[in-house]
Amino acid sequence: MGAGEAVRTTCAYCGVGCGILATRTGDRAIEVRGDPDHPANFGRLCSKGTHLGETVGLEGRLLHPMIGRRRAGWDKALDLVARRFRDTIANFGPDSVAFYVSGQLLTEDYYVANKLMKGFIGSANIDTNSRLCMSSAVAGHIRAFGEDVVPASYDDLDAADLVVLVGSNTAWCHPIVYQRIMAARAARGTKLVVIDPRRTETCEDADLHLAIRPGCDVALMNGLLAFCRREGALDAAFLQEHVTVPADFWEAIEAESDLWTVAKTCDVPVSDLQRFYALFAATPRTVTLFSQGINQALRGTDQVNAILNLHLATGRIGKPGAAPFSITGQPNAMGGREVGGLASTLAAHMDFADDNVARVGRFWSAPRMANKPGLKAVDLFRAVGEGKIKALWVMATNPAVSMPDAGRVREALSGCPFVVVSDVIADTDTSRFAHVRLPATGWAEKDGTVTNSERRVSRQRGMLPPPGEARPDWWIVTEVARHMGWGSAFAYTCAADVYREHARLSAYQNGGARLFDLGHHAAIGNAAYDEMVPFRWGRDPFGGDHALESRLTARLVTVRQAKLPEPLRDWPFTLNTGRYRDQWHTMTRTGLSPKLARHREEPLAEINPRDAERLGIANYDIVRVETPQGASLFRALLTASQRHGDLFTPIHWTDRQSTGGRTGLLPRSLTDPHSGQPGFKSTPARIEKV
Ligand code: SF4
Repeated sequence: MGAGEAVRTTCAYCGVGCGILATRTGDRAIEVRGDPDHPANFGRLCSKGTHLGETVGLEGRLLHPMIGRRRAGWDKALDLVARRFRDTIANFGPDSVAFYVSGQLLTEDYYVANKLMKGFIGSANIDTNSRLCMSSAVAGHIRAFGEDVVPASYDDLDAADLVVLVGSNTAWCHPIVYQRIMAARAARGTKLVVIDPRRTETCEDADLHLAIRPGCDVALMNGLLAFCRREGALDAAFLQEHVTVPADFWEAIEAESDLWTVAKTCDVPVSDLQRFYALFAATPRTVTLFSQGINQALRGTDQVNAILNLHLATGRIGKPGAAPFSITGQPNAMGGREVGGLASTLAAHMDFADDNVARVGRFWSAPRMANKPGLKAVDLFRAVGEGKIKALWVMATNPAVSMPDAGRVREALSGCPFVVVSDVIADTDTSRFAHVRLPATGWAEKDGTVTNSERRVSRQRGMLPPPGEARPDWWIVTEVARHMGWGSAFAYTCAADVYREHARLSAYQNGGARLFDLGHHAAIGNAAYDEMVPFRWGRDPFGGDHALESRLTARLVTVRQAKLPEPLRDWPFTLNTGRYRDQWHTMTRTGLSPKLARHREEPLAEINPRDAERLGIANYDIVRVETPQGASLFRALLTASQRHGDLFTPIHWTDRQSTGGRTGLLPRSLTDPHSGQPGFKSTPARIEKV
């Protein structure tokens, strides 16, 4: 495309999935503005999206395949990757290799990687960094609905009378959703309640902020459900018609659910708790939007189900403005869910039930189908460290920084016999361990689709030529498959070829059994694919036209508040981690924008002033934050927004930008038992002035 012509595409950052109009203004220059016609953002963009144009230069790009430190041709690099994977599989079996992929990949990239691993290599050892972001939401939805459905849309936020934000600094992390809530508030007086141990910027406009003790969300939600029951706010007809209730459910809800007990457990004033409960019980049009504060917990799945229980039992679902809503972190976490990017899912939202394995195997004519889930992220890197995974391919992600207990992950990578990294950036903390680096195209150069938090599929469109020898991720995977001898099954010539196959698979022998069905796109032509307008997929069980299909039933799941650990003598603080407004992940992209760097120039360890005074820490002192896993230096920020006994550090900084601020070294690699998602949010820690 030439200069001056605006291209409709999608923001590369978060799960809001904003539409962008991008105009090329030079060789490597793009002007970006919000797409007024995109239903996710109607022309608005946050600071990160607005400054995307500053990230499309060639600074730091990986431009050629590299074997070790030497430049290599594509054929030589692909031959080596294919040979090492083939030999490892031949010698040690299919489960001795693994892919670790990313919610930054487009759906087409994700699809071919999943097909290669699960249908041809014959292992399900492909997991994604979305495991760190929303896998507890997936597990919770499957427990409640039997399927990974998201029963909400952004329209529900416009129609709600009450929005409850749980574990989400929406104003910073999903700014356009927050603006939409604020617009509804201005237009119809929507009430806003924020539940978060930290007093974040999101709390500034809230009617009520409950700064609960970390890890108490189940107690809070169970207490609310008991309150609704006492107040006659359950929806008996809805429960009768659509919801299965386990025999022990109400007994578990009623246990320790009086207001005083819940207030004590959650460490909030009874009056605030009562205000929240009364508001919820009196407001049928309520959306509960939740994010990492719920998901990234050792009991994340239970916390998700406590929220889903509440909405199902009170009938606050399937009606305009009434829904539980999991908002995803990454731009294409949902696309990954569609193609089975998680080790625990297959493809097209199927699990590993025998008939699903057989169905997908038939569709792919797969020589060797995986028939059981593979290793989830934390276990996958543990297996690398134990020498069980002997060949690993990391695509578009930086686990040497972003995984919990990242020091261990680095040790594992350094001992792995063969590591491939395909990425846009030449030098990442992870690529330093790579034997082979493969150059991938970036946001402004590649074509494909992404799915946002409300399941809206949008096109991402390339507008700059690939620099150097960079290639799309789907092409790189396809070529490796071809070099491994499976060329005819991977004979794609463009992203549209992959999308058509993905759409056909979603409809293959489906017969209405699964909600995810892109059958209407099974034969979409290249021109129609190019012109595709954003759409929400499938028949809609709870959102959209809000007609709850009678065949869809849901379950309440009995969840109990876990006993909270006592503070440890040597580790008296609870460390919470999260994002800054203007940075993204490990800053490989946002770090290129000088304007974005101005918001927070360095990583700060936030601490309550009372705690700081006791430890002799003053504002902006250099402090050492330490956990049993590791330690790093930060500058202290004294703020009453932190609860007494809690600390907060940001996730973005790496060795490449600073010697301190290495939050990834600090969290434990403990995970939720249902989802395998790491519990980043509450690590025992200590802090001292340096
Ligand atoms: Fe991009 Fe998310 Fe900002 Fe929208 S809200 S512009 S998708 S970062």
